[in-house]
Amino acid sequence: MEERWAVVGASTSGLFAALNLAQAGIPVDLYEAEVDWQPTPRTLIVTAEIERVFGENLNDALLNRISRFELVSKGAVATIMLREPDLVIDRARFMHLLARLAQEKGARLHFGYHLEAVEPEGEGFTLHFAQGKTKAIRCTGLIGADGVYSVVSKHLGGPSLNTFSLLQVRVPRPPDVPPDTVRVWFDRDSTRFFLWLIPEGEEMAAVGLIADSPAQAKDSLEAFLRSQGWEPVEYQAGTVSSHSPKISFNLREKGGRAFLVGDATGQVKVTTVGGVVAGLRGAKAVAEAVICGVKSPKAWRSLKRELDLHWLIRRILDMFTDRDYDDLLARLNRQGEHILSSCNRDKMASAIFRLMAAQPEWLALGARVLGRSLVKGWL
Ligand SMILES: Cc1cc2nc3c(=O)[nH]c(=O)nc-3n(C[C@H](O)[C@H](O)[C@H](O)COP(=O)(O)OP(=O)(O)OC[C@H]3O[C@@H](n4cnc5c(N)ncnc54)[C@H](O)[C@@H]3O)c2cc1C
Repeated sequence: MEERWAVVGASTSGLFAALNLAQAGIPVDLYEAEVDWQPTPRTLIVTAEIERVFGENLNDALLNRISRFELVSKGAVATIMLREPDLVIDRARFMHLLARLAQEKGARLHFGYHLEAVEPEGEGFTLHFAQGKTKAIRCTGLIGADGVYSVVSKHLGGPSLNTFSLLQVRVPRPPDVPPDTVRVWFDRDSTRFFLWLIPEGEEMAAVGLIADSPAQAKDSLEAFLRSQGWEPVEYQAGTVSSHSPKISFNLREKGGRAFLVGDATGQVKVTTVGGVVAGLRGAKAVAEAVICGVKSPKAWRSLKRELDLHWLIRRILDMFTDRDYDDLLARLNRQGEHILSSCNRDKMASAIFRLMAAQPEWLALGARVLGRSLVKGWL
């Protein structure tokens, strides 16, 4: 059988994987379950790293640029100016842009194809889709980009993933938050993660939080909105997966090759639960593995290093109390602030040692939090 790759899932990771393969002249078909493909709008904040990974103009999807972060705990505030502004983009517009580029490069997109099962067969796979009647399609290589509940992963022995619930609402931008400023609140009573307000521009902003379940997300966000007196105009919600250092993106090496990308394999920075840039980097790594015929591409190793670091930081932050967050923000010094201003959240691994050297008080805080949790474990 001639080489033919199949990608399952037409969201950011799958579309970018298809685009990269098509660009390299590799025949690729992308199958998406949605019949009438109308991606729902979702306000996303991403670092400027997206422009380097994507490599194309993002203006069609761009809503706003952010140059300032205000971090607020119960008893402290810290401000970080970004040397390279973050981008606020609309996910639906970004997906349309990716779909157009992928098709221009020769990828074939098929909608209304809901994958039900995958059968490895010799040098490839048979994909079984439900589409009124069941369709079986053959391919030589397979990329599962079908999200948190990936069917590709389930049928080829992929990892079981932890998940988070994200809920955000659009509200008129409060006048005390400038359009170029994201405000982040740390409040353990609401969530072990954080709450955010991201201006989409002059008029509107997205307010949201991460929680461990949809019910907790709803209750906490509603209480927060009431406390601020903000009226939601529109809800955006979903489940996102979580990275863990044990996860591999490489599903099969014998017979046909198969990979997972994006939320299907927990390519998410678990500090901020940002999955877009990580998913694009995952897609690029898979393309490198396919094009160069390598098992462990360089792009994958650097993504894994980054995601492992975020996983470690999240483990420590999960033990923080409100007082620890106060300490964290109050002890941010000028040198630490300078490092955070110039290194983005997708490139933390390259700055972590410099940051720790500049912020020895943070190391001491981390050690104290770890020690306290160990003692608690013993009692
Ligand atoms: C409210 C909210 C806000 C967020 N904000 C941010 C943010 O600000 N910054 C950031 O970086 N990340 C953010 N995220 C996370 C980010 O959106 C996700 O990590 C990212 O969209 C994952 O993309 P993906 O392509 O891996 O998978 P998904 O977007 O989950 O897409 C999976 C695709 O596969 C299709 N599919 C599923 N099953 C099948 C099947 N059986 N057959 C065929 N097709 C199938 C689905 O229809 C879908 O199109 C947010 C998430 C939510 C919910």
